Amino acid sequence: MYYTKDTVVYLNGKFIKATDATTDLYSQTLHYGYGAFEGIRAYNTRQGTKIFKAWEHYERLRHSCISVGIPFQYDTEELIQVTYKILSKNNLKDAYIRPLVYCSPNMQLQQPKEVYIMIAAWEWGKYLGDNLLKLCISSYQRPNPNSVKVDAKITGYYVNSILATSEAKVRSYDEALMLDMNGNVAEAPGANFFFEKDGALYTPPLGHILPGITRQTVINICRELDIPVQEKHFTPQELHHADSAFLCGTAAEVIGIESIDARPFTKNWKDSLGSIIQEAYKSQVLEKSFSHVII
Ligand code: PMP
Repeated sequence: MYYTKDTVVYLNGKFIKATDATTDLYSQTLHYGYGAFEGIRAYNTRQGTKIFKAWEHYERLRHSCISVGIPFQYDTEELIQVTYKILSKNNLKDAYIRPLVYCSPNMQLQQPKEVYIMIAAWEWGKYLGDNLLKLCISSYQRPNPNSVKVDAKITGYYVNSILATSEAKVRSYDEALMLDMNGNVAEAPGANFFFEKDGALYTPPLGHILPGITRQTVINICRELDIPVQEKHFTPQELHHADSAFLCGTAAEVIGIESIDARPFTKNWKDSLGSIIQEAYKSQVLEKSFSHVII
């Protein structure tokens, strides 16, 4: 359930009941997937409810829109204040927040004159659960950067993600791991990927992936904890020699991987670098010190 009869959403400058909100059937976003969105989390910290990396998420929303030509005239600070209001109006402390910029009625393949914004929030547990994940290499590739702007979070791109996750579930895996057009590992349908080898972490460079805000947070944590981390391309075959691996994203947080294509990682998750990062990430979102995370 994403909303009840009491839920309040923000729609174009107004706070209204979710059940009273309407949209136009002729929106370009509905027909062509031409819209941009974000996935943000708020945490109930000791200092009250805090939206994690709110600025970064709304700036990415701006970047997503501008890079595909969707007009974006909203002020980031104002959007953050509106989001805090949505949380308090709905009595939410731990929440998932979904802003969406969508286009006016327009059946042309051209930029719209007008866009709309909605922000909704709801309580949401862990997107991929708590257990270690069994992944499979997807038969679906991530979009080609010569076809779309891969670093933008555009609604229509998620058909690609739905195909990959659905295929993985049909094959009885928890989630997919997708390759790029060159056969290198790219990312999961809604999360970025890291692996551990001989005391260092590796993740694909930008270019064929969504530049995850959690991915950047993980890299920053590594720098703080003196864990070597490198961005480089690698094939799925190279993962056969990896010690451990994890996915990370706003919804998924940091979650360990048990196996890829039924080939398990040798290191116990609790002894892995990913487990240390997972603890540090939890501390950071809850605004606790993570100086206790010592390696
Ligand atoms: N890749 C894709 C394709 C995603 O949809 C997401 C979720 N936004 C991520 C990676 C992780 O990004 P973030 O850490 O900013 O949530």
